[in-house]
Amino acid sequence: MPNSISPILASAIALSILILFLVLYLLNKLQYIKILNKNIGRLNKTIRELDYQAKLIIKGDMELKLYQEEVEDKLNKLTLLKNLIISSLRILDKENLFSQIDEKTINDLGFKKGMILTMEGEEKFSIGFDPKEKSILNDFVKYRKNFIQAMPLISADTEAGTELAGALQTKDFLIAPIKAREKIYAVFVLANLVMPTDVRRAEKEIFSIICMYLGQCLDNIQLFEEIYNAKDELEKKVKERTNELVKSLRDIEAISRAKSDFISNVSHELRTPLTSVKGFSSLLVAEKFGKLPEEAKKRLETIDENVDKLVNMVNTLLDIARIESGKTEVKIAPADIAKSIRDAGEFLTPQMQAKNIKLVFDVPDTVLVYMDKNLIDQVLINLIGNAVKFTPEGGQIKMSARPGGSQVIVSIADTGYGIEKENLEKIFQEFFRVDNTINVKAKGTGLGLSLVKRIIEIHKEKIWVESEIGKGSTFCFTLKLAKEKNI
Ligand code: ADP
Repeated sequence: MPNSISPILASAIALSILILFLVLYLLNKLQYIKILNKNIGRLNKTIRELDYQAKLIIKGDMELKLYQEEVEDKLNKLTLLKNLIISSLRILDKENLFSQIDEKTINDLGFKKGMILTMEGEEKFSIGFDPKEKSILNDFVKYRKNFIQAMPLISADTEAGTELAGALQTKDFLIAPIKAREKIYAVFVLANLVMPTDVRRAEKEIFSIICMYLGQCLDNIQLFEEIYNAKDELEKKVKERTNELVKSLRDIEAISRAKSDFISNVSHELRTPLTSVKGFSSLLVAEKFGKLPEEAKKRLETIDENVDKLVNMVNTLLDIARIESGKTEVKIAPADIAKSIRDAGEFLTPQMQAKNIKLVFDVPDTVLVYMDKNLIDQVLINLIGNAVKFTPEGGQIKMSARPGGSQVIVSIADTGYGIEKENLEKIFQEFFRVDNTINVKAKGTGLGLSLVKRIIEIHKEKIWVESEIGKGSTFCFTLKLAKEKNI
């Protein structure tokens, strides 16, 4: 068979083909392994990156935990500060202020030992320090005054702090001044941390704030003490002055009583001889002892007129003195003021007619008031008498009684000459008469209104005057309304 392939060749070809396949297969696998290796490399890189990120997360987590702890610690310390502020708000003395600091406060601030030492070496509070440490701190306060004054906070990392750290054999301590009005009153010492760490910012800040706050409290206490003492001093002075015034008032009362007694006695003594003088002068004027020459009669009439004036004056003086010394018997009872007003008006009608003065009443039929009738009648006669005296011919006098609320206002208004503003108060003083041409002619003693005022005052009522020069004057006074059944 010429075209047949020998079996060996066929086998060889088959083997070659097999080998070729195997080679191709291997090449393919190699390619696959290469890809795998590449992927493994990428995977490793990813794993490394993941590992790095995991480490970062753990680190961040740890830092976060630390921050959380710090924030919590700060919050605890702020609560401590808040409690301290609340408990010391109403404290007004130094001893009580420092009693707010105790072992718990020191622990809450993160320390085991604490002490408050005044600049005089007095311990206001101390916990945990042994006598040796106390003596070291005492010396520090004594000899490092200027340094403490200049520093808001002293720790182991400050100049003098390093020295102190050596002496106390610890680095974890804090010292701060407690200042009142810029002067150090005491120092606050904290030592030996509860947790074995370094003294942190939070501890320093809160401690500084507490020391400043205690200083502020001391300022307030000092201010309160000053105000309290000033108030005491003021009260003492007021008391002294009041006593002096009471004494002066008593002296014045005694003098016034003596004056009233004197006037009362003199007036009384004058009355008897005056009555006799008046008796004889009236008889002489009436020519009961025989006819008198015209000149002598004229003179005697003037004497008789002046004796009347004198008797009038002595009587009024006696009335005033009696009221002042409380000797006047006052009988206040319900009475009809309307009737008294009409009676007083009518009593002076002749004088009014002589001057052609019109009298007008604006008075209800009856008005019952509490008054001493005799005394108030005297007031009315005086006021109308003045109105007639100081009103020129052809004028008008109006007498009114206006009930309102619980009182009645009685007024006597005239169309007279009027009174100057500056004299409105003075006319009620004894012997005061306005210095003018009208008064030269008008007769008077200057005692009438003084008596009127005293009578109104013993009724515990008010009297006043309104006046305008050239237009007239209105005198008003009040009386309390009474009920009809009380009569
Ligand atoms: P007298 O009338 O005796 O002078 P008074 O005490 O009654 O004394 O009055 C004091 C002064 O008040 C009078 O001198 C007078 O100047 C003034 N006065 C009182 N009432 C009136 C009045 N109705 N109009 C003007 N002046 C008056």
